Amino acid sequence: MHEIISHDLVIFGAGLAGIRAAIEAAREAKGDIDIAVVTKNQMMRAHSVAAEGGTAAVMRMDKGDSYELHAWDTVKGSDFLADQDVVDRFVRIIPDEILQLDHWGIPWTRLDDGKIAQRPFGGHSYPRAVLAADKTGFFELQTLYDTLTKYEHVTHYNEFFITAIIVEGGEFRGLTAINMTTGKFVFIRAKGLIIASGGGGTLFGFTTYSQTVTGDGMALAYRAGLPLEDMEFLQFHPTGLVPSGILMTEACRGEGGYLLNNKGERFMEQYAPEKKELAPRDMVSRSEIMEIEKGNGFKGPNGLDYIHLDLRHLGADKINDRLPLIREVCLEYNDIDPIHEPIPCRPVAHYSMGGVETDIDGATRIPGIWVAGEAACVSLHGANRLGSNSTAECLVWGKITGALAAQYCKKVSTLPAFSEQTFIKEQQRVLDLLRNSNGTENLYQLRRELRTCMDMNMGVFRNKDGMEEALKIVRELQVRYKNIQVQDKALAYNTNLIHALELQNLLDLAEVTVTGGLVRTESRGAHARRDFAVRDDENWLKHTLAFYSAKGPELSYKPVNITTWKPVERKY
Ligand SMILES: Cc1cc2nc3c(=O)[nH]c(=O)nc-3n(C[C@H](O)[C@H](O)[C@H](O)COP(=O)(O)OP(=O)(O)OC[C@H]3O[C@@H](n4cnc5c(N)ncnc54)[C@H](O)[C@@H]3O)c2cc1C
Repeated sequence: MHEIISHDLVIFGAGLAGIRAAIEAAREAKGDIDIAVVTKNQMMRAHSVAAEGGTAAVMRMDKGDSYELHAWDTVKGSDFLADQDVVDRFVRIIPDEILQLDHWGIPWTRLDDGKIAQRPFGGHSYPRAVLAADKTGFFELQTLYDTLTKYEHVTHYNEFFITAIIVEGGEFRGLTAINMTTGKFVFIRAKGLIIASGGGGTLFGFTTYSQTVTGDGMALAYRAGLPLEDMEFLQFHPTGLVPSGILMTEACRGEGGYLLNNKGERFMEQYAPEKKELAPRDMVSRSEIMEIEKGNGFKGPNGLDYIHLDLRHLGADKINDRLPLIREVCLEYNDIDPIHEPIPCRPVAHYSMGGVETDIDGATRIPGIWVAGEAACVSLHGANRLGSNSTAECLVWGKITGALAAQYCKKVSTLPAFSEQTFIKEQQRVLDLLRNSNGTENLYQLRRELRTCMDMNMGVFRNKDGMEEALKIVRELQVRYKNIQVQDKALAYNTNLIHALELQNLLDLAEVTVTGGLVRTESRGAHARRDFAVRDDENWLKHTLAFYSAKGPELSYKPVNITTWKPVERKY
């Protein structure tokens, strides 16, 4: 049994990027198109709700900040892999988005004179992260969600799990989804699609991501024929709480926190003499691992050796005012009060710089499909994202793609051709997984093995042997996946089936990530190889593209768009 529904525009995901896109599409269309927003959890449970520290924007031109400075920081932070036309566009749009959210009612943290407050963040040479305490994502998502409810012609599909993007003959046809509350299969026909499905960080075991972030949209786009770009660049945030991996926001260091080794030294003074703790994340993460390897760390559980994040000198008032969530999490999870004790931290998988390839407008190679937010590689972050540039990217490309997709859907008069058989084939695939997966492999064991393999071989430092081992394990897991058991045969709320579908997506993404990393014989940004320790602009100043094939990813490359700054050595 299935149901067929039709909309002009479907938005796949309801995080910051998806909801911002939905609002802009509704504003642009003025009631002329109808819009669907589909999410596998409840709207306010998108992972964006966890964003903590801030959103970068130039708000103080009168006090020395400028678009050029924000753009330069982003390009240098990216280790020169960001497309510079994209960066230039980004820095000019985001300040208006901050004001737009202000008008929609967000409670930005303010200065005494009423102006919007900003705090320092890593790699930025001006304190430009706009904040709402350390719950920025929660307040941004809440404000956008509130705003979206004011628009008619927008249908919300909560707890609908999208299983495929249907493309035939290079043309977008629609989506297939499971209504998780009933188990019923749904064919969603549409003229246009915005993929805003987030990152893929649960490829790793030690991660800041919620368990729902499984890279579904990236994997489905890849299987539908769209290339994934720069997937080998996966960001490790320097301060994941040990042992849970919960993020201790960079705002801890932005507000003045120190990183200390077991001798009580601020070791970042040796690695980044000028910026110290506020160097970019790739650098700070590498420095922490080097300190731990020198024997200057602390022994942690299960190999999770750590360094200390020290906030004590900030004092109780500042911690309670600017970092209340951090204190609450430390007390709840580690029984540590950061007012009196240092926090055990180490690098943790945090952000996908790569994603579905798009042009500067977020448009893909398939007409009618756009991508926004972490699922996209519009190529703003290159090889290393600066903190607070991601929520900003979601707002900017949510707005851009929402407007363009609405214009497109208004122009296209009819829904694309519908061959029901193609949709039914996908339904059969999923039903087959549900009914006939009675093998001997435990999918949760496979997922654990995948994460262990990625933690061990694709971490802060990589090398050929480790990546070859990872690729071998991932390919074995793909074979073993064919023999999994889906024990729960019920239709309604079958999380066992959803986990099986998610695991398939993670396995595809792991294969692309490792393959791209193995071939890229240089170190750039977050891709740091021990066997090729230097950046190689002559051979590798280019983007990786991975195309799906039944035999595994096929790689090709495209140039970086350099408009203003030639690569130079990164010093901080
Ligand atoms: C703990 C943490 C703190 C962070 N703090 C900051 C910060 O302070 N500043 C900053 O700039 N960045 C920060 N980031 C990064 C930033 O929060 C994310 O990159 C950004 O919020 C991603 O938003 P998104 O809209 O692209 O995706 P998400 O918010 O992940 O939303 C994805 C949506 O897609 C839906 N979806 C996915 N798969 C399916 C499927 N198969 N079917 C249906 N729906 C699906 C999900 O349900 C969800 O609604 C932080 C990240 C983490 C992990």
